[in-house]
Order: sequence, then C-alpha cells, then structure tokens
Amino acid sequence: MTRWGLIGASTIAREWVIGAIRANSGEVAAVMSSDAARGAAYTAENGIARSTTSLDEIVSDPDIDAVYISTTNELHREQAVAAARAGKHVLCEKPLATRLEDAIAMRDEAAKTGVVMATNHHLRNAATHRAMRAAIAEGRIGRPLAARVFHAVYLPEHLQGWRLQRADAGGGVILDITVHDLDTLRFVLGEDPEEVIAFAQSGGMSAEGIEDGVMGTFRFRSGLIAQFHDAFTIRYARTGFEVHGTEGSLIASDCMTQRAVGDVVLRNEEGQAPIEIDRVGLYERGVARFHAAIAGKGEPAATLEDGIWSLASGLAALQSTRTGRAVRIDPKL
Ligand code: NDP
Repeated sequence: MTRWGLIGASTIAREWVIGAIRANSGEVAAVMSSDAARGAAYTAENGIARSTTSLDEIVSDPDIDAVYISTTNELHREQAVAAARAGKHVLCEKPLATRLEDAIAMRDEAAKTGVVMATNHHLRNAATHRAMRAAIAEGRIGRPLAARVFHAVYLPEHLQGWRLQRADAGGGVILDITVHDLDTLRFVLGEDPEEVIAFAQSGGMSAEGIEDGVMGTFRFRSGLIAQFHDAFTIRYARTGFEVHGTEGSLIASDCMTQRAVGDVVLRNEEGQAPIEIDRVGLYERGVARFHAAIAGKGEPAATLEDGIWSLASGLAALQSTRTGRAVRIDPKL
C-alpha cells in the first residue's frame, strides 16, 4: 500500500485526489498546510490522521512513501525538490512551476535521486482522449491535419481566488487551462508542438494584467495546426476536442472536464459512428498509473517531461499574447 502525504490543503485534493488515492487502496497519512488551523480543519473534514506546517517534517516522515503537491504553482519547485531529496516519490500538479528553469530543476533532482516524479495532467486519462489517440495511431482518420480544442468554461466561485489575482502564483487562464490543452494535444496526436501564437483577453473577471480568456494556434512538427479557446468567463459553452484528418474526423464533446463523461464520434465517407469508450475515473487512473510506476511497472500517465512540455508551451503562449508574435516552443529537454 502506498502511503501519501499531501503538500497543500487544496480544493483539488479534497474534491478529487484524496478519493482517487483511496480508490487505489492508498492511504492519505498526513497533510501539510502553511496554516495550522487550516491544516487541522482539513484533516478533520477529510479523515486524515495528522497535519503539519513543516515541509521538512512531511518529507522526512518515514511513514510516507509519496507526496502529492497541490499548492499554488510558485511553491512546487521547492517542495518537489525537498521531497525528492528525502527519497519520496512526487506527483505534482500542473503547471509544474511558473518558470521553466524551476521545472527543469525538479526533473534533475528526480533523475539524481531516482524517485518517480510525475505531472497530474488528468485529461490524458479520459476515455475520450485515449480512444482518439488509439484511432489516430490505427490510421482511422488518415493523416491528421488540424485540431480544435474548446475549453472555455466558467471558473466556479469557490475557485475565484489566486487564479484571477496573483500573477506570481501562475494565475491566468493560460497556465491553468492552456497547459492541459497542449498536453492533451501531444497525447492524442503523438507529436510535439513547434510554435504558438495567441491573443488574450481580460473579460472582466481577472485582475489587471492577468488574462481570463485566450484564443490561439499551435503549430506541430508535422505541420498540423491546432486551435484552442480557453476561458474562465464563459458560462454556457460546451467543451470539445476535434481532430480532422485526410480520411476522417474525430469529434469529442463534453470531454475537457474532470468528470468521466463525454463522447467521441468518427465521421468519414461511411457517415458518422460513435466510438465505444469506458468510464474510468480520470484521477483514479492517474493514481493507479503512478502506483504502478513506483512498483517499477511502466511510466506514470503524464511524466515530468510531459509537464515540462506543457509548461514551456504555456509560457510561450503567454509571451505571444504580450508580443503579438509567434513564439517558438523549446522545453530545453
Ligand atoms: P486552492 O486555492 O484550493 O489551494 C491552493 C492553496 O491555497 C492551498 O495549498 C492552501 O494553502 C491555500 N488555501 C486553500 N484554502 C484557503 C483559504 N480558505 N484561505 C487561504 N488559503 C487557502 O487551489 P486548487 O486546488 O484549485 O489548485 C491547486 C493546484 O492544483 C494548482 O497547482 C492548480 O493548478 C492545480 N489544479 C489541477 C487540476 C487538475 O485537474 N490537474 C485542477 C485544479 C487545480 P496551504 O496548503 O498552505 O493551506
């Protein structure tokens, strides 16, 4: 059984990841919060045995095998590096950091200490995206030419905090949502992006200088172009993910979400047909793959390198919105 320490008394842990750990027979042994009272309340609310305010204490706890980091993004590097140095495996939230060099330092520490360090890009685990990846790899749409990602949502009120207010914490829709789009594109298409161009918007929700909406285009190595629309401000849109190839199109609906929902259809000269998919929980599958990786069985669903690619792409998109120019993506791997 894997014994976990949570670094961060966060909403994502409470709503999804604690349940996913327990569904995989893992134990949530402790939580670290920077605030003792919040940590104590969190342990009571979530049935966790103990809390601490000390990073050193949680990473050196001999009864913990792995940590899940879901603090705000500027804190991930220090916490991940400390955990790896103490020999703990690390599942870290996206974006891995606010600067590329921080994420690279995390990767280097994991390589040095031999721990498993992974990124919690949950959308790779969605049945919709796995089915599209398989269909493309089998050649069912011929040569993919274009993709479109619809990921404009309404940020729930209880999350309208640092994402809208704190640039230093990696606030803004690009580091929050565009990084997921890019990771899902890399996963589904099986190739890497080369450059990005984007326009951002402040639609009235975010603080000055922080974007709450963005549209842009990634260009991939094969020449494929992929359009994305991400927002915190759109209440009634549907999410979706489409890939269009020379012989067919794959169209997924309601798939850019935390829940195990959504559908995929294949359209080609024979008409339109649904693709059969399973309904496995996205976070459950992510934790299962992480546990397996610790046991030496395969890779995590999203590796740290995958998180570095999505961070580098998000930072490039952000730079493009500021300069008005296409920006090359270099993850420095
Ligand atoms: P939260 O705002 O819920 O938590 C982040 C930090 O805020 C916590 O670590 C906590 O600090 C502090 N905090 C929590 N509640 C309060 C409060 N009432 N008052 C003051 N501070 C508080 O963030 P999220 O859970 O939304 O996001 C955390 C991380 O997870 C981010 O990296 C985000 O990008 C990622 N994320 C990933 C998702 C995915 O699907 N992969 C989905 C959502 C988020 P402390 O720990 O010190 O108590």
